[in-house]
Amino acid sequence: MVVQAEHAMPKPQGWSLWVFRETPSEPAGQYACHVNTPTHIAERFRPFGSSIFAEMTRLANLHKAVNLSQGFPDFDGPDVAKTAAIEAINAGHAQYARMSGVPILNAAIAERWENEGKGTIDPDANVTVTSGCSEGIINCLVGLLNPGDEVIVFEPFFDFYVAGTAMAGAMCKFVALHPPRDGGREFWFDEAELRGAFTERTRAIVVNSPHNPTGKVFTRRELELIASLCLERNVIAISDEVYDQLIFDPAFPHISIATLPGMRDLTITLNSLGKTFSLTGWKVGWAIACPALTAAVRACHQFMTFSTSTPLQYGAAAALREAGDYAAKMRELYSGNRDRLSAALTKAGLKVYPSYSTYFLMADHTARGFDDDKAFVQHLIEKVGVAAIPPSGFYNRKELGSPLVRFAFCKRRETVDEAIRRLEKL
Ligand code: PMP
Repeated sequence: MVVQAEHAMPKPQGWSLWVFRETPSEPAGQYACHVNTPTHIAERFRPFGSSIFAEMTRLANLHKAVNLSQGFPDFDGPDVAKTAAIEAINAGHAQYARMSGVPILNAAIAERWENEGKGTIDPDANVTVTSGCSEGIINCLVGLLNPGDEVIVFEPFFDFYVAGTAMAGAMCKFVALHPPRDGGREFWFDEAELRGAFTERTRAIVVNSPHNPTGKVFTRRELELIASLCLERNVIAISDEVYDQLIFDPAFPHISIATLPGMRDLTITLNSLGKTFSLTGWKVGWAIACPALTAAVRACHQFMTFSTSTPLQYGAAAALREAGDYAAKMRELYSGNRDRLSAALTKAGLKVYPSYSTYFLMADHTARGFDDDKAFVQHLIEKVGVAAIPPSGFYNRKELGSPLVRFAFCKRRETVDEAIRRLEKL
């Protein structure tokens, strides 16, 4: 079990700097977390420490840095969603929702799927509403996996995939996404490495397209390769598509792997309201799958949260049906932010990699001469006043993330411009 955990999870070394650092601003008497305090944390969670996102946001606040670390907008979502949620509260929708979701939201999700030309689905049999995509990810992993099973995960990864796999007592096999080669435009993976990651114990592969943190959109050819391996070996695709509406370049369209031939009954597609509608704090998400896979998702969901906030599900249905061109406006804002930030970072001596979607871009900081990503980000927060994320925590092989830094551009234009002004100090 311990050996398994070592393979399954990222090692904690180095992160204690962030996790346990004392800060002069901590109020006296606050519970402190000391290195020597005996831990009550279960073994499977110990390697993860505290979330890098929370830590960077805390440091950003402490140093009054412009926070381009955590992926949340610094503005509000569409009024139609808020009004519908408030009306639902006033109308007394205050009790537990149906386990699989409030019918009006399941219907809106199915409608959107159909309107995108992805086929007809049954809102009750194929859709499960979850508390954010995060809960959807955990439901898939804990609901599907048995101890000893393997899950293929591309690195860098959204950290829930690895933690969720550990919760299930299963193991991750990592496949690297490499920065674009000279002359290349996209992060890429090695086909042989992907093929080699499949073993007789492989139960699932996590596909996150559009991809956090690289801004990569997997191409049809790449998805077809993944699909062919899944079909050959009866491996389930867990497809995290939370950024599907935030595509900035028509040359890289979003494709749901579930729509490839043969994949409908082998895929669980996850999505949520948060990224598209700037409502990350609402934590309303959903899983779309055939009844057999839906049963696995619900097996966990019914004991994880049982159901998701009732009034917010009404608000979510309104967002999906009535928000008009909200997503288009966000694409315009974010792609403009991305361009401005990319230019400023390039001017500051970083090598910026192209991002075609999401809230994020990745850049190589090595020309600036810092030891690693953490040292660079620490300098950035404390001396420049801009917070970013050191991405080695998103890698199993930390050395792959060490030259890189992740910036979030899902902010008001003024916020990004203020960060750009400060970056001139670099
Ligand atoms: N998947 C990815 C790839 C993400 O980047 C995030 C949020 N950072 C999530 C899932 C979580 O989504 P939610 O807020 O809906 O739980």
